[in-house]
Amino acid sequence: MAKTYLNLIGGQLVAARTGKTFSNINPARREDVVGEFQASGAEDVDLAVKAAAEAFKTWRLTPAPRRGEILLRAGQLLQERKEQYARDMTREMGKVLVETRGDVQEAIDCALYMAGEGRRLFGHTTPSELQNKFAMTVRMPVGVCGMITPWNFPMAIPSWKLLAALVCGNTCVIKPANDTPLSTINLAQALVDAGLPAGVLNVVTGSGAKVGTALVEHPLVRAISFTGSSEVGRTVGQAAAGLYKPCSLEMGGKNAMIVMDDANLDLALDGALWGAFGTTGQRCTATSRIIVHRAVAKEFTEKLAARARALKVGDGLDEQVQMGPQVNAAQIETSTQYCTIAREEGAQIVTGGHALTEGAFAQGHFFAATVVAGVKPKMRIAQEEVFGPVVSVLECGGFDEAIEIANDIPYGLSTAIYTRNVNLAFRAMRDLEAGITYVNAPTIGAEVHLPFGGVKQTGNGHREGGIGAIEFFSTWKSVYVDYSDKLQRAQIDTGE
Ligand code: NAD
Repeated sequence: MAKTYLNLIGGQLVAARTGKTFSNINPARREDVVGEFQASGAEDVDLAVKAAAEAFKTWRLTPAPRRGEILLRAGQLLQERKEQYARDMTREMGKVLVETRGDVQEAIDCALYMAGEGRRLFGHTTPSELQNKFAMTVRMPVGVCGMITPWNFPMAIPSWKLLAALVCGNTCVIKPANDTPLSTINLAQALVDAGLPAGVLNVVTGSGAKVGTALVEHPLVRAISFTGSSEVGRTVGQAAAGLYKPCSLEMGGKNAMIVMDDANLDLALDGALWGAFGTTGQRCTATSRIIVHRAVAKEFTEKLAARARALKVGDGLDEQVQMGPQVNAAQIETSTQYCTIAREEGAQIVTGGHALTEGAFAQGHFFAATVVAGVKPKMRIAQEEVFGPVVSVLECGGFDEAIEIANDIPYGLSTAIYTRNVNLAFRAMRDLEAGITYVNAPTIGAEVHLPFGGVKQTGNGHREGGIGAIEFFSTWKSVYVDYSDKLQRAQIDTGE
């Protein structure tokens, strides 16, 4: 009998008012039910938001260094529990253990960074234009923050949002993706065990349409932070805009890696394999287009296909396995459809292109590592996010054409270039339209202390990670202190 997990509201573990639950299934073995989780509704969101609003009254007054110390303890607890939490994550979403350990590590890194931020949260002091007057800026918390997260980085992404929000003095209500509620609950447990006061963090599980919408629309929620698809992000962003709520949107990607003819080809192959098939291609930063110089395209494509074919696919809990399942049947369907689209558009599937259904694969949602060649820039396979282990190879005649192809998409998250020419590397850093550019490294591998996010349909101008997250989860207050004992009028009195 699978364990039933409850919502965290006001420091209590409680069942949803709806009385309903949903099952969290292991995508590598469908008969393995990871747990039953609360299928919450608007009433549960209301209770959680009210608990957060109540807790805000005291949390905002807790000195930021003290808030940071709780995050530090949470980071230490995550370190102690890393292996268990990584195993839970592999079981609920499939990616291999080495990667889920990395996902937990990202939350640990974030806790360490944000703990230190408790002793920074710097504002500015600046001269006043008037005599005997003092001017400064201070960072204030925003209030109750609502967070909606996807399943592909089920602890890392919630940690980017929660830990930044908490250190700034906000209280939070988070709704994790239905495929991965356990990892968010594990993160919340570490924070509670580290001493986070009741109501400061609330977790409400359930459907996006019901719980997500209620959270965005709740009048006591002052800011929304969303990570997920561009399609849902647009809905969330429009709803938040109508309510004048600040809203951070981190969305899809169609990330390009450029391989020039002078590149270290073996290095580029290592990067392509990791970038395209890490997390089974289900990263927002996944390498999904490889733009290769014509002079090396044939050799590169053949070698990439051979290495993709040799990848060991299976249950991510097996340490030998290099690529786990996709998260659910819908993702398999999407990957299958895009391979059909690619064929119809005239591209060639060099390897893969189908679900894996034989033997042990029949128990889960597996898809073969797929390389598509002969892809042209305007094909749908080159323009739309697949979010599966399907990588397209496009040929180019030189650097300028490569940049043009790379930029000719609606997204702008991550990019990479492999070259030994320092001039081209610097031009790529300048000219690639994306929030992130790697040189001689794949499109994946962000570190928590640098801003993370993208341009165009990937994001709406905000950033996660490091100081970018602090910017979103705090609001500036300008403070003037007049110690002249007389009325002084800015812009009017010149001062003496
Ligand atoms: P999704 O958009 O389907 O869901 C994201 C979250 O939104 C989930 O918690 C979901 O329940 C919720 N949701 C769904 N409908 C909603 C609604 N109407 N109102 C409010 N919330 C709603 O995305 P997903 O399938 O979970 O994740 C994959 C997507 O996330 C990909 O497009 C990927 O590129 C993107 N992603 C982006 C980043 C980034 O930082 N840019 C990081 C990871 C994933």
